[in-house]
Amino acid sequence: MAETTPLYETYSRAPLRFDRGEGVWLITEGGERYLDFGSGVAVTSVGHSHPHLVAALKEQADKVWHLSNVYEIPGQERLAKRLTDSSFADKVFFTNSGAEALECAIKTARRYHFAKGHPERYHIITFQGAFHGRTLATIAAGGQEKYLEGFGPKAPGFDQVPFGDLDAVRAAITDATAGILVEPIQGEGGINPATPDFMKGLRQICDEHGLLLILDEVQSGMGRTGRLFAHEIYGVTPDILAAAKGIGGGFPLGACLATAEAASGMVAGTHGSTYGGNPLAMAVGNAVLDVVLEDGFLQNVRDVGLVMRQGLASLKDRYPDIIQDVRGEGLMLGIKAAVPVGELLQAIRANKMLAMTAGDNVVRLLPPLVVTAQDAREALSRIEQAAESLRMKSARKTA
Ligand SMILES: *Cc1c(COP(=O)(O)O)cnc(C)c1O
Repeated sequence: MAETTPLYETYSRAPLRFDRGEGVWLITEGGERYLDFGSGVAVTSVGHSHPHLVAALKEQADKVWHLSNVYEIPGQERLAKRLTDSSFADKVFFTNSGAEALECAIKTARRYHFAKGHPERYHIITFQGAFHGRTLATIAAGGQEKYLEGFGPKAPGFDQVPFGDLDAVRAAITDATAGILVEPIQGEGGINPATPDFMKGLRQICDEHGLLLILDEVQSGMGRTGRLFAHEIYGVTPDILAAAKGIGGGFPLGACLATAEAASGMVAGTHGSTYGGNPLAMAVGNAVLDVVLEDGFLQNVRDVGLVMRQGLASLKDRYPDIIQDVRGEGLMLGIKAAVPVGELLQAIRANKMLAMTAGDNVVRLLPPLVVTAQDAREALSRIEQAAESLRMKSARKTA
């Protein structure tokens, strides 16, 4: 990259320039092939340049790109019907991103209590280690100082407690509480799955206190864990859910799903978006769902997830000096590094494989959900080579 850039310098970027993608591979301008186990942070859920998605986008591009939401958009009705038929939800609002889906979820919960005559109930309980996006409300919900600093007063109405601590949740409830917002598996926080008891406890607390359970499944949803949504693993049903990332397979798309009851306050004029549910996004979103709902698709996520899990466990046994722990569900996996996480990521990259970092010194593996067992074995071998190279390096250092 050039020494000075006209771009905001908010990202620290790796000096890699990709020209095209094919399935689980990304190819640089120079023609080098990288095994992509980052998927642009869980976004390219069915791989790069999936022919069905490419065809759907091209076909829609020839018809109409954009329509205002003052008109009916059949693609929205079709995608919403398919999402509600496959989930707990009755109602859907389409957005362009995860943070916007969360904004809609938070507004839906607050507005629900407002419509019931309780405008004072606008507080949402959230959890340490959470990540919900970068808008002013979602950085307040996430509560991480590094994202809040310098941006003025933190938006009010978010009460944060330790992840996994039901007693702290109970203690935080007041007459002003509207709901509880949680990632069933914290993504950015370091691939930290909630325990089943914790998730069931949250549902029970919500039922006892008339609170809405809001799940952030922006990362864990749309098949990532081997179920359409991660909460299915826990046997817990939310009132409101935010989805994004994998739902558009690379086209900017998010969705807020809710039960009819939870969405009852969101009447005409209360919310809107210029681009949300745009025809191009709907064409691609429906195409993604065609693939994800195909017989055997989610089974493949579970099967290949298991291959990865077992392979990583064996690497952890052989390289305890590099890999401290392995965790996650399906194809949402975290390797807690025993070395600085940046070093492990670099070593993996040096073996022409892409992954992501997360909090708690974790390397995240989020491959396209179409990976095969053979791709998984290739990835495991590259991670092993990375671990081996780090071990050699530290041996040289101590020699
Ligand atoms: C990525 C992410 C978001 C924010 O999504 P954007 O599309 O970047 O706004 C919110 N919640 C979770 C759990 C995420 O992983």
